[in-house]
Amino acid sequence: MSEDFPRTLLELEKRFSTDDACREYLFALRWPQGWVCPRCASRQGWSVRRNLWRCGQCRYEASVTAGTIFQDTHMPLTTWFRAIWQLTSQKTGVSALGLQRALGLGSYKTAWAMLHKLRRAMVRSGRDRLQGVVEVDETYWGAEEPGVIGRLTHRKASIIVAAEQDGRGIGRVRLRRIPDLTKASLHGFIARAVQPGSTVQTDGLPAYLGLEGYVHERRVQRHQREGEHLLPRVHRVVSLLKRWLLGTHQGAIGPEHLDYYLDEFTFRFNRRKSASRGKLFYRLAQQAVQVQPAPFTTLVKTQHMGHGGVK
Ligand SMILES: [Zn+2]
Repeated sequence: MSEDFPRTLLELEKRFSTDDACREYLFALRWPQGWVCPRCASRQGWSVRRNLWRCGQCRYEASVTAGTIFQDTHMPLTTWFRAIWQLTSQKTGVSALGLQRALGLGSYKTAWAMLHKLRRAMVRSGRDRLQGVVEVDETYWGAEEPGVIGRLTHRKASIIVAAEQDGRGIGRVRLRRIPDLTKASLHGFIARAVQPGSTVQTDGLPAYLGLEGYVHERRVQRHQREGEHLLPRVHRVVSLLKRWLLGTHQGAIGPEHLDYYLDEFTFRFNRRKSASRGKLFYRLAQQAVQVQPAPFTTLVKTQHMGHGGVK
């Protein structure tokens, strides 16, 4: 399926006015080459009734939404599609309260849960790793952020940020909450976020020492001028992140949920130059049917791709 997506809200409303229309779209995104059994990867299967396919090999029966973030949802797919649109059509995204109002949802909790499920689909970790020259640095969220109030934010969370160099600008980014600044946490993040063989630039923190599989450049400078940063790209990303967390979400984010927001920020940031917002809708819908479960064949393929550096 070539990248096929609604370009305006009107187009979305017209095209996805029924759950059947939504399901047909998800089917094409999940199985672009035709149905594949989620259990045994056989391509022999047939539709047994509306929204249910049976595998010719292992007899497994699955719907297009089984195992995806839409599984067991009580919400119509038409509502989900509108939520994806709300989340992707605006540059800064949407808060749970904003979504509840826009879709006329009965409860704040429902809106909040939908957004969190969608955020889970935003980043495919371990795939599409950063490459070339990558700046890596740590930051914090919580505690002393200006404007942050409420009991959730008294705790501090460590965040690690990687930003690709793209000329003088920034390429793609990866962000993650880490439990501590130990060698295991820092090196583990770099291994998942950055393609081996790349150049990794960090500050002088000793825990970065001994980084294997990368060219490691430590940036240490005794006299730094005001406003000058040794790792300017991550610095810029961090300030954009904090502005977004404080703006769209009013900073009301506990450390336990921070990963979801980091994923959303990453998704947005890495597509900030996308010409069409509809393309973000397409990408998120596509990833929403690919996240869970990871069939054995997909896992093997992903690992293979990771190590071989083939995309
Ligand atoms: Zn099967």
